[in-house]
Amino acid sequence: MDVIIVGGGVYGLFIAYHLVNEGLKVTLIDHNEPGAWSKAAVGILEYNMFSANMINSMSYMMRYIKMLRSGETELRYINTGWLRIYLRSMIRRRDIFDKAINAVKNINNYSRKIYRAFAEEKNDFEYSEEPLYEIAKDIEKIIKEARKDPLNPKYEIVEIMGRQAVAYHDVAKLSTDLFIKRLLKDLEKKIFFRKAFVWDVHKDAVYLDNGEILRGEKIIVSAGYWASTLGIPIAPFKGYGLRIRSSFKLRNMIYSDEKGIFMAPFSRWIKISSRFDPDSGVETRPLRDIIRRSREILGDLEVIDISIGYRPCTPDGLPIIDRINEKIYVSTGGCRLGWTQAPGAAKIMVDLVLERIRETPFKLNRFI
Ligand SMILES: Cc1cc2nc3c(=O)[nH]c(=O)nc-3n(C[C@H](O)[C@H](O)[C@H](O)COP(=O)(O)OP(=O)(O)OC[C@H]3O[C@@H](n4cnc5c(N)ncnc54)[C@H](O)[C@@H]3O)c2cc1C
Repeated sequence: MDVIIVGGGVYGLFIAYHLVNEGLKVTLIDHNEPGAWSKAAVGILEYNMFSANMINSMSYMMRYIKMLRSGETELRYINTGWLRIYLRSMIRRRDIFDKAINAVKNINNYSRKIYRAFAEEKNDFEYSEEPLYEIAKDIEKIIKEARKDPLNPKYEIVEIMGRQAVAYHDVAKLSTDLFIKRLLKDLEKKIFFRKAFVWDVHKDAVYLDNGEILRGEKIIVSAGYWASTLGIPIAPFKGYGLRIRSSFKLRNMIYSDEKGIFMAPFSRWIKISSRFDPDSGVETRPLRDIIRRSREILGDLEVIDISIGYRPCTPDGLPIIDRINEKIYVSTGGCRLGWTQAPGAAKIMVDLVLERIRETPFKLNRFI
């Protein structure tokens, strides 16, 4: 069977990885370097947490308003169609949500197995299982939120960097920059890679910007927020990832609630990520603010490089892994946890394509 994958982010690359392991012929199309958007991520794998993606709740909305007021995010554009479904999805269908959240638990466990296996083979992407520390003024509020997390994370209150923090266990980190390199090296001779922009997918055909039309027995759209052009409710929620050097010896993964900054230390750099802007514009203005806030934590810093990424978020924060018709499939919606979920989500997609399962708990029609 010939499979075409549109989009070589972390979702598409893991789908390619599983398909190749099944012995299938894979063509992967991306208009960028594969992984270019995904590697903006800081690389924190929250195996036992889902609250980062619980965006359709009153408390998240309040938190977002606070972020808007403090300048941590900016509302330049919002897709009104997405917003309408978002507001509707606040009334959760318990049956759909419970089934999906159980599946997310399995996805995350599977992802952990895959990342461990990669690291055991060769840990050239600095994989490490260690706590994430959330530093905040109002620890009680953070604990209250953690208690609402449907995956029941393990946590404790600790002191770190002279501040009170919540330490979450069952977390890991990896360097997204190094892991993309590793995955591409593993896939290099096993898949066909086409650098092109896909402007449409219809029936069994993929239309490229150079006028070419590619046909495949199965077509998987894993192009992050671009899936919205197929009528799928996905908003981009842009964020920035910076690799920096600092004389500050950061030893742990931290999230500063006050500064809205994630940081993870690696052997040659610290990775920083910030912002959750619901538009796909490319702007450099927020970078000054991210660097200023990071300096308030670290003292000095020198920027190595910067990447922009788009967190593809559905209105309910759960992924979409579904069949659109006989030939076309879609896999997106990792939102803030795309790296955590990608290996497991890709496995479900491959099981669906190979007809080992008839459907998934992440169906598109939950929004209709
Ligand atoms: C700043 C930031 C920090 C994050 N931190 C974390 C974290 O610590 N842990 C975690 O689990 N997740 C994190 N995430 C979320 C995670 O990175 C995303 O959920 C994930 O990257 C989504 O992967 P994807 O493959 O679905 O989409 P993308 O990464 O957006 O990839 C889509 C790919 O499709 C290609 N494409 C799009 N349209 C077309 C087209 N028309 N034709 C051809 N190619 C196309 C793009 O070039 C791109 O390569 C973070 C995200 C950001 C932005």
